[in-house]
Amino acid sequence: MKIAFIGLGNMGAPMAVNLVKAGHEVSVFDLVDSAMKRLEETGALACASAQSAASGAEIVISMLPAGQHVRRLYLGREDSPGLFEALEGNPLIVDASTISPEDARAVGTAAEARGLTYLDAPVSGGVGGAQAGTLTFIVGGSEAGYEQARPVLEAMGKNIFHAGGIGAGQVAKICNNMLLGILMSGTAEALALGVKNGLDPAVLSEIMKQSSGGNWALNVYNPWPGVMEGSAASRDYQGGFLTDLMAKDLGLAWELALGCKATVPMGSQARNLFALHSAQGSGGLDFSSIQQLYRAGEES
Ligand code: NAD
Repeated sequence: MKIAFIGLGNMGAPMAVNLVKAGHEVSVFDLVDSAMKRLEETGALACASAQSAASGAEIVISMLPAGQHVRRLYLGREDSPGLFEALEGNPLIVDASTISPEDARAVGTAAEARGLTYLDAPVSGGVGGAQAGTLTFIVGGSEAGYEQARPVLEAMGKNIFHAGGIGAGQVAKICNNMLLGILMSGTAEALALGVKNGLDPAVLSEIMKQSSGGNWALNVYNPWPGVMEGSAASRDYQGGFLTDLMAKDLGLAWELALGCKATVPMGSQARNLFALHSAQGSGGLDFSSIQQLYRAGEES
């Protein structure tokens, strides 16, 4: 298939590479030139704009940081038209970014008004899952759109869920990431407590993994440097899922809770922790660097 892929960051780049590997004709665009150069080397066609990448595409996939970027791409601004206005043909639109359900519905409604099918399809599984092609896609939108997108999503993911109508994918993803933020900060808290009491972090991790505290962070994303080979913690928290993006997702959970009068005390606590960590200069580090917040003053 002819696919346009917009947004080649930590997640988008390996996802687009997997589409090339699966034999699709992939046109790519990112605001950062070096990101496009890397993709070009794998066989993708680098384009000068989102509009030219989308020209003649059967599917447009976007993987952008936040709602404002997705709105700007598709809906444009006063001074510049968005992709919906500039598009030729009627490609299927799949936004894999994590954004608010409200933003997803606004973009989805504009897509429908233009005669396009829109899916929100946020992912879970991290950079490792994006590279391995084992992501979980959580799709919101029509059944027909979901069935049309499925074969393409299968080139990038292992588990493809249909959560409901437009925005439902984002609701499920936000619930998941609120739980992840709570689990990662709780794991970091427990590890710091054990180490301050003389335990080896690797030994403590193994014990908790096999005990009732076992969770995804301990199994595949240990936040303590050196405990797990290949983890973000073991490469100075470079790359991966940025603290700023986790803070954004916990903010989305908070907004979602406000809108339906839900009580989210643990999610709020996690949001404050990640926001503080970001404010202290760690927004560009992987989110497992929340471990550092618990290690402050360790040497004294
Ligand atoms: P990133 O910041 O690494 O990449 C975003 C890319 O989008 C950048 O290369 C940026 O230059 C590009 N971009 C921004 N605006 C653009 C525009 N108008 N046109 C073209 N390119 C544009 O972010 P990421 O880690 O790849 O995450 C992307 C999305 O996926 C986010 O919503 C994030 O919350 C979500 N997510 C990330 C992870 C992860 O582990 N990193 C996991 C699951 C979901």
